[in-house]
Amino acid sequence: MTGRQAAIEADRCLYCFDAPCTIACPTHIDVPAFIKKISTGNLRGSAREILSANVLGHSCGRVCPTEVLCEGACVMHEKGESPIEIGRLQRYAVEQVLHNNIQLFRPGPFNGKRVACIGAGPASLACAAELAKYGYNVSIYDRNELPGGLNTYGIAAYKARAADSVREADLVKQLGVQVCQRFEVGRDISFADLENQFDAVFIGIGLGETWPLDLPGENLYGVYGAIEFIEETKTRAFAQVEVGRRVACIGAGNTAIDVVTAARRLGADTVYLIYRRGEPEMPAFAYEYELAKQDGVSFLWQTQPVRVFGEGGVVTGLGCVRTRLGSPDAKGRRSPTPIPGTEFRLDVDMVVRAVGQKPTTDPLRAVNGLELNFDGTVKINDRHQTGNPKFFAGGDCTNGGKEVVDAVADGMAAARALDAWLASLRAAS
Ligand SMILES: Cc1cc2nc3c(=O)[nH]c(=O)nc-3n(C[C@H](O)[C@H](O)[C@H](O)COP(=O)(O)OP(=O)(O)OC[C@H]3O[C@@H](n4cnc5c(N)ncnc54)[C@H](O)[C@@H]3O)c2cc1C
Ligand code: SF4
Repeated sequence: MTGRQAAIEADRCLYCFDAPCTIACPTHIDVPAFIKKISTGNLRGSAREILSANVLGHSCGRVCPTEVLCEGACVMHEKGESPIEIGRLQRYAVEQVLHNNIQLFRPGPFNGKRVACIGAGPASLACAAELAKYGYNVSIYDRNELPGGLNTYGIAAYKARAADSVREADLVKQLGVQVCQRFEVGRDISFADLENQFDAVFIGIGLGETWPLDLPGENLYGVYGAIEFIEETKTRAFAQVEVGRRVACIGAGNTAIDVVTAARRLGADTVYLIYRRGEPEMPAFAYEYELAKQDGVSFLWQTQPVRVFGEGGVVTGLGCVRTRLGSPDAKGRRSPTPIPGTEFRLDVDMVVRAVGQKPTTDPLRAVNGLELNFDGTVKINDRHQTGNPKFFAGGDCTNGGKEVVDAVADGMAAARALDAWLASLRAAS
């Protein structure tokens, strides 16, 4: 957005009382307040408004599903007009701060307490930034080479560039937070050592690798997990990313859309998205689906993969079968059943699994008292505290995989709860 475009768009805002856009945002950014500051030319004040509620406000301006959050709630819809472009305005305001390397916040005076955050994804970065402002000494430990978690490594490159995500993590480092990369908790330091060395610990480890499909031939060369494939597109030059000529992606969530659009844009001739239910049941957001249609992806509804074919250890095809959907169950889900005799083969040279991520459960079993839910997510109470009171948790590892803005909201809520818990211990002693 140019300054003029931003000013014109900001002037359309009605500055609603009890703004529904703010209520719809999980981090409750005061949208009318930041837009008003853009319209009066106070960009620094606008960015301060955004970043005080959400330290990853720049990323969220790019990757948030604004159509179903703030912009979806904008009253302009009721007037039959297009919603205010909140995401683009947000990006515009924060870009000025990032571009000019302006430091808006300072760490609070040291309060004598130390906190460790595990993982440098959105949840931990938000938690660490908030705690640093309260005066905590915070150390983040992350096993990747770069900070940002899936924001850096997982979200499709056309939405969020890795470099922008890393630049945003610098805002957290400016608050005095120490970020140790290539440092895996459970391998380079034990959970017990962290528990002994710090006053409290925040777990923001996200989820793990993509679930397998348990299909014959799944180990052939040319079968990828969605996260691994997208990571390639974000960490290598596009020309170096290996992409098939004919690609099949299994799954129909937002991650599957990222895979198929990336595959098309990297030069694949034919890209199939294969889903065992129908178009109405597709979990991806409508606007993401639209994008994939525009990119020329072929959708195979009510189709289930049954095996991967290969020659010489390399993928040559995908065996599929058509499905029939049963009546909706109590949750409204219609179960697919394969229809005998409808088997067919697709000639493809690359298969990508996009059927969700496995929770990382094994290392967490080492934490005394910490419990896991039946689906492998970390069990927390309404104050983000785990069964071990010194350990708090938030983000994908507790919610099973939502959006960046939810992880940020969790990280900030956990920081507030952790601060209140340590204050209650001080008061009791
Ligand atoms: C393909 C894909 C596309 C997505 N697209 C969008 C989108 O368009 N918009 C959106 O809002 N959201 C999107 N999301 C969701 C979003 O990325 C996540 O909700 C968000 O990143 C979760 O943040 P987190 O901090 O909980 O976890 P993560 O981002 O996963 O970060 C966890 C960090 O912890 C580190 N870690 C794990 N274990 C250890 C350990 N033992 N020791 C040290 N470090 C450890 C990991 O390396 C990682 O850096 C997408 C997700 C995927 C998979
Ligand atoms: S709902 Fe729309 S018009 Fe009202 S304050 Fe929010 S962005 Fe402005």
